[in-house]
Amino acid sequence: MNALLFFDLDHTLWDFETNSRLALTQGYDAFDLGAKGIPRVEDWIEAYEEANDLCWAEYRAGRMTKDVLRGQRFLMASEKLGAAMNEDLAQRLGQHYILTSPHQTGLIQGTHALLSELQKRGHDMWLLTNGFEEVQHLKVDRCGLSTYFHGVLTSDALGVKKPHPDAFLKALESTGVVNPGQIYMIGDSWESDIEGAQNVGWRGVHFNPSGSVEPGAWKTVRRLEEVLALPLIP
Ligand SMILES: [Mg+2]
Repeated sequence: MNALLFFDLDHTLWDFETNSRLALTQGYDAFDLGAKGIPRVEDWIEAYEEANDLCWAEYRAGRMTKDVLRGQRFLMASEKLGAAMNEDLAQRLGQHYILTSPHQTGLIQGTHALLSELQKRGHDMWLLTNGFEEVQHLKVDRCGLSTYFHGVLTSDALGVKKPHPDAFLKALESTGVVNPGQIYMIGDSWESDIEGAQNVGWRGVHFNPSGSVEPGAWKTVRRLEEVLALPLIP
């Protein structure tokens, strides 16, 4: 028997940052922002990312709803660049971004090589991701990742998000595997993926390309291919 493996999707396999920039560029072109006082798409992306961080901080502090956040970050980005944009355009850019992002197919370097080798070794692999059912499935299908996984388990379908223990327990139940032995969770988020998984007795493989190493993680890898050298025994 080979070990049961769970993978996170965003920032672990699906290159969120690259895909976000691709979606922003498409929105920039679709709404002709070059003719609306924002001559360089690089500036637009930079201003958006800064505004997005600020909006998420407001959201986490309970001072902004997600609905407002979706358009507000575009409004703030345009203000930062001194370009006039009305709320209607910001809303439409927000909508465009939400719809376009999941279609992008940028993957973290080494994704296919890692997954195909683990599949060859006979691991039973599942995706366990916080996100909406349609969105996460679309990303997986568009990137050609479905072939590696027995299933895609979203917080949307499970009704609970990582790092809540029930997210991991329900995910395990969904696999139908009895007596799984040692289970592994590979992900980029210390709190959601690693701490959450280790709290239910799984082993966490922290994919942490550049941050400081969390001593509590079972293993830390800087590149995906390093996972292949780990003793993933059941
Ligand atoms: Mg992630």
